[in-house]
Amino acid sequence: MAEETIFSKIIRQEIPTPLLYQDELVSAFRDISPQAKCHILIIPNKLIPTVNDVEESDELALGRMFTVARKLAEEEGIDENGYRLIMNCNKHGGQEVYHIHMHLLGGESLGKMLSV
Ligand code: 5GP
Repeated sequence: MAEETIFSKIIRQEIPTPLLYQDELVSAFRDISPQAKCHILIIPNKLIPTVNDVEESDELALGRMFTVARKLAEEEGIDENGYRLIMNCNKHGGQEVYHIHMHLLGGESLGKMLSV
C-alpha cells in the first residue's frame, strides 16, 4: 500500500488549499511554489505514486486530467498562446511528491523544454 502524500489531504480538503476543479476522478489546485505565472497541478484522486504504477484501469482518470488541463488553460486565458504539461517520474525525472500530478504551466514564454 503506497503511503499517502500531502496531495491526498488537499483532495479531502483536510489542508485548506483552494481547488480550481474537482470531480469524482481528479482534482486541481495552484502549485505552492509557482514556476511560471500560471502553475496548476492536476492530479488523480486515487493515489498512484508514479507513472510507473499506472494501470489500464486508471485510463479514465488519466484522460480526464487532459480534459481538465484544457478547460483550466481556457479559464486561465493561456490556451491561445500556449502552455506546457509536465509529469515527472522518480529521481531522474525530478519527482518530489509521490502522487502523480500533471503540471500545467503558462502565462509567459517558457523557453526551451529542458535546462539541465
Ligand atoms: P514534482 O517535483 O513532484 O513533479 O512536483 C511537486 C510539486 O508540488 C512542486 O511543484 C511543489 O511546489 C508542489 N507542492 C508541494 N507541496 C505542495 C503543497 O502542499 N501544496 C501545493 N499547492 N503544492 C505543493
